[in-house]
Amino acid sequence: MVLGIDIGGTRVKAALVSEAGETIHSAQAPTGSQPESFVQNLNNMLRDLQQNQPPVAAAGIGCKGIIDVHSTKVLTLPGALHHLEGQQLSMIIGAVLPLGCPVIADNDARIAMAGEKQWGAARDCKDAVMLTLGTGIGGAVMINGHILRGTGGIAGHIGHLTVDPEGPECICGNRGCLETFFSALAIESEAATVVHRGLITQLSNPNPSCQDVFTAARNGDRVALEIIQRATKYLSGAIAGLLFVLDPEKVILTGQITAAGDMLFDLVRNDVQQRTLPLLRRAVPIVKSELADPSGTLGAAALALTLKEQ
Ligand SMILES: [Zn+2]
Repeated sequence: MVLGIDIGGTRVKAALVSEAGETIHSAQAPTGSQPESFVQNLNNMLRDLQQNQPPVAAAGIGCKGIIDVHSTKVLTLPGALHHLEGQQLSMIIGAVLPLGCPVIADNDARIAMAGEKQWGAARDCKDAVMLTLGTGIGGAVMINGHILRGTGGIAGHIGHLTVDPEGPECICGNRGCLETFFSALAIESEAATVVHRGLITQLSNPNPSCQDVFTAARNGDRVALEIIQRATKYLSGAIAGLLFVLDPEKVILTGQITAAGDMLFDLVRNDVQQRTLPLLRRAVPIVKSELADPSGTLGAAALALTLKEQ
């Protein structure tokens, strides 16, 4: 049994997970805005979770930002959890773990890939690409069974692939990154603009959600459909480029936007195929993640299992 921990902006979740990927026992607590309450909430939760249970063999932690995997030091983490920067996550939870229990940590997109590799859509793959489609776009790349981390731990930041050199400024400091065109935030800001401009559309709320835009498009709203088609072209273009660079067995999509289902997948599959068939001569499967919450505690547990194997 291993321990999977998912540190999110509002909640911290943890689960005891079997080697077969079954969640045996789980718990969650508010993340807390202050460093002291964060440590206290987390440790109390982990202590309660492990009570009357056999000792865990390893612990995995998923956290946003850039994490040094084996030392578990948080290198970069902007936002609410900024106070974790420079801290070693294994030190924070060390007191409530069995003596000598190894700890490993990585960002949420890579633990999602670890989870899919262990129990989900990538279980029979050696080479796969994953994109997490949410507020922003995250990514992970697996090559020959290893999740790519790169020299400085940045590898896999697919959301920051430049898709238009003169495009809008991105939070990363670059211009025209994929997530400035395709992400929940990008789609929502396009939708808010068309509503503001008074176009005839089913989008009536002044600030439509990404889900509203997909729903309107599915209901035949031309303006919403155009927003989705335009944004998706950038996503497909980026995936096509990745296929030429990495030649993976499959592409796995996860994250809140994939709830749009066939509407999204059909657009992406068709466009990617048109762009890549002449050179690749095969249609690379573009599939949805199989784990219910891949970037959560299950992915973190899968990462912990890789420690056990080493
Ligand atoms: Zn960027």
